[in-house]
Amino acid sequence: MEISFKGKEALVTGAGKGIGRATALALALCGANVTALSRTQADLDSLVKECPSIVPVCVDLADWKATEAALKNVGPIDLLINNAACAIRQPFLEATPDQFDQSFNVNVKAVLNVSQIVARGMIARGYGGSIVNVSSKASQRALKNHAVYCATKAALDMLTKAMALELGPHQIRVNSVNPTVVMTEMGRQGGWSDPEKAKTMTSRIPLGRFAEVDEVVNSILFLLSDKSTMTNGVSLPLDGGFLAW
Ligand code: NAP
Repeated sequence: MEISFKGKEALVTGAGKGIGRATALALALCGANVTALSRTQADLDSLVKECPSIVPVCVDLADWKATEAALKNVGPIDLLINNAACAIRQPFLEATPDQFDQSFNVNVKAVLNVSQIVARGMIARGYGGSIVNVSSKASQRALKNHAVYCATKAALDMLTKAMALELGPHQIRVNSVNPTVVMTEMGRQGGWSDPEKAKTMTSRIPLGRFAEVDEVVNSILFLLSDKSTMTNGVSLPLDGGFLAW
């Protein structure tokens, strides 16, 4: 199945590392003009070095106004991938208001902010578009020491549905991908490279393993593309069958 994004304008958040970076590179390979938003300038510098056509935007998504200002001069966008997130590990009883605010600011509120900016442009141009939110299987199954993270991803799934409902009439589709653990920096920080801890999860995944970055990227590309034109408002599990239990 060939997917081409030739002539499309794409914006990927959290494109400095991990899934976002791989998505930005894959979109560029499929012909899209890619704007990559992230927080660490050095990551964006190395991304542009790897793929010089990518346009970098360095901003902290936790800052609503700074994000608005940073996106002011970004042109029309056809494809938006809300991928950036933070996963702060805290036992439920130790979760703090600061960590709560930081997590919801980046994982949910920034999605609202960036999507509003992009969707307003899509509506004004009248060509529709496609938005993919990178959620997690943690939106539907509790993960120990991740109470706030799980809550942000559950909120993101519902935001995805609400966006699909209101943006659908403008031919803007909104879906999410919901992966199990992926061995990015976030996956490693979650302690999943510890074989004992990994086993507690992989033993509950019928395919018996975590997801690869490329597997997540491929599903994002599918949902962005014209191969999924009737798919709107879904949260697509990428969990090797974990939720089938
Ligand atoms: P990652 O390797 O930690 O990369 C996240 C990227 O997002 C980094 O470039 C990071 O920049 C950027 N970012 C974070 N906060 C930001 C902010 N406030 N403003 C701008 N950029 C920010 O994470 P990943 O594993 O690729 O995760 C990508 C997405 O997949 C997330 O939504 C995550 O929740 C989801 N997910 C991941 C897993 C997993 O196991 N890895 C599983 C399910 C879902 P800095 O490094 O500069 O902060």
